[in-house]
Amino acid sequence: AIDPEPSAALLARRRAVIGPSLSVSYREKLKMVRGRGAWLIDHTGRRYLDTVNNITHVGHCHPHVVQALARQAAELNTNTRYLHEAMPHLAERIAATMPGDLKVVTFVNSGTEANELALRIARTALGKKDTVVLDWAYHGNSGGTVEISPYKFKRKGGFPQPDFVQVAAFPDAYRGPFRGAESGPAYAADIDRCLNAIAQRSGSGAACFIAESLSGVGGQVILPVGYLADVYARIRARGGLCIADEVQCGFGRVGPEFWGFATQGVIPDIVVLGKPIGNGHPLAAVVTTPELAARFANGMEYFNSFGGNPVSMAVGHAVLDVIEAEQLPARAVTTGAALMAGYRGLAERFPIIGDVRGMGLFIGVELVTDRETRNPATQAADHVVDQLRLRGILASTDGPDDNVLKIKPPMVFGPREAGILLTETEAALGSMS
Ligand code: PMP
Repeated sequence: AIDPEPSAALLARRRAVIGPSLSVSYREKLKMVRGRGAWLIDHTGRRYLDTVNNITHVGHCHPHVVQALARQAAELNTNTRYLHEAMPHLAERIAATMPGDLKVVTFVNSGTEANELALRIARTALGKKDTVVLDWAYHGNSGGTVEISPYKFKRKGGFPQPDFVQVAAFPDAYRGPFRGAESGPAYAADIDRCLNAIAQRSGSGAACFIAESLSGVGGQVILPVGYLADVYARIRARGGLCIADEVQCGFGRVGPEFWGFATQGVIPDIVVLGKPIGNGHPLAAVVTTPELAARFANGMEYFNSFGGNPVSMAVGHAVLDVIEAEQLPARAVTTGAALMAGYRGLAERFPIIGDVRGMGLFIGVELVTDRETRNPATQAADHVVDQLRLRGILASTDGPDDNVLKIKPPMVFGPREAGILLTETEAALGSMS
């Protein structure tokens, strides 16, 4: 259906009644009316290829997920103080994908809530608060998660680093202080500086270390080989717990592995799941060990009005069904490899491409003004995104300098979509010379 209201009019209405701290993408705003697979359709009927939405993991409006949601919404939706088969069953299915003793699941409504709960579990279990985070990390929009998110508190509108938070060097092996595949130990050593600062402040160790298993907001950075294993060992040697934030990279995106932490050969104490688990429906989860779950159950109940409700559980089951039936982690491997090869081909012709990196359908293309200095080509990246949008591709940038094209499309992104993205990226890059 064609919607006659121009987007400018809707933008004005929105600005009058919606808080201005929320931005709208692109210079020329888009008004979307429909989604299908990896495609979004705007109010004029124009199709756009979605290369960034990692929330709609199994594709926009996947019929199996939509039907599961509608069926359950028509039957029952209530809180989790009644028995309902779907909640323990979904927990069992998630636990079955986890290694080690990661067997106890709590369902919540957002990645933010899940990270809040993960922090509370670690801090309550150990009776300590100090937390080690990676520079440039983002873990959520609440008070407690912004405090552990340098991406927010260090930037405009932020606040001084909280005294119970230590920020470790961001392990960017392409443009950071230590470079190359062997840089893991040099970055991991910075964790000791953080732990020493905590010991000095509190006379004890950290409660926890939290990091994305692959860094999304940091600019699609693949952690150096062995980095997390080294960091976890240092944290655990001083009695701390390790939290893996899988909100962006989980659920097979880095196929064939189901979880990002597996690519680093570690087993976290607490795992945080979000975005893809609900394919756009507000659902997230925390997975931990029976031992930590028991220590968190110290008498204060954890209750969540919506978390784990039957409709959310139906959605979670349907998402897992599709991931399995359509073998999405395996498809991420082949489509991701084709995309990476395509970008590497483009890098031979366009020196502005400094680095192409990725795993599965989690890919970053870093643009630089000069391959020697590796200075960020921020404006050019912005231009490419704009050009792509004019060509019917939704793309975006991330990283401290917003110079990394981030590619994390719905997992149904196939060879046809990859071909379109590469052709249009070539044209967008060509339009700059
Ligand atoms: N962790 C990471 C790594 C994220 O990318 C995000 C969202 N961008 C969050 C946590 C917070 O998730 P939510 O927006 O669902 O609260």
